[in-house]
Amino acid sequence: MNKNSDTKKLFVISGSSGVGKGTVLKGFLEKNPNFMLSISCTTRAPRKGEVDGVNYFFLTKEEFQNCIDNDKFLEWAEFAGNRYGTKKKYIQQCLAEGKDIILEIDTQGALQVKKKMPEAVLIFICPPSIEALENRLRGRHTEDEATIQKRLQEVKTELERAENFDYKVINDDLDKAIADLEKIISGEQNAER
Ligand code: ADP
Ligand code: 5GP
Repeated sequence: MNKNSDTKKLFVISGSSGVGKGTVLKGFLEKNPNFMLSISCTTRAPRKGEVDGVNYFFLTKEEFQNCIDNDKFLEWAEFAGNRYGTKKKYIQQCLAEGKDIILEIDTQGALQVKKKMPEAVLIFICPPSIEALENRLRGRHTEDEATIQKRLQEVKTELERAENFDYKVINDDLDKAIADLEKIISGEQNAER
């Protein structure tokens, strides 16, 4: 699956909150340990069990604004009341070192990456239904009702933006979703450029 660093592609995964991006990616990464997941910056408060520098770099609003002002982000976006961003330097370093890297970011950020790096491959994870999405988001028990509502309000726009993505994967059966993602990624890596 591996090729030279000059043929490395950046893979970007997006999908509505609660669709199972984290779960699908965990399964993918267990089977493909050569891939690494980019660690984003966020102004959101850590959830129980989240660790700074592992799940996210948790920044204050001022620190995040400072990164924007100093042009540190490859992309950043505001999502459901918090800011999230990917550091340019981190991605450039990973690609230069020939690492296979995956970004898990929102749809606004994904489209910004595509503009700057047209060779990036955008993959949208879809729920089997809106009801299933809502049940998963609630069933995770990590957000309060107001936050769940804010996240659900984003779904329609996210599905519209997904029309500009390169691929869609339906996360109904988890193993199938992981296998579908593997097929897309290995197909892209082996494709002529
Ligand atoms: P996201 O990272 O997209 O916000 P998560 O990976 O945290 O979503 O998943 C949200 C919830 O849905 C979790 O409780 C997870 O266990 C569950 N989930 C993920 N994929 C599936 C699936 N294929 N079928 C049923 N439940 C799933
Ligand atoms: P959560 O708060 O559930 O961890 O993430 C909320 C949303 O922010 C998800 O859609 C997630 O993909 C997105 N996100 C995480 N990191 C980044 C990032 O660096 N940039 C952007 N644009 N979105 C991100």
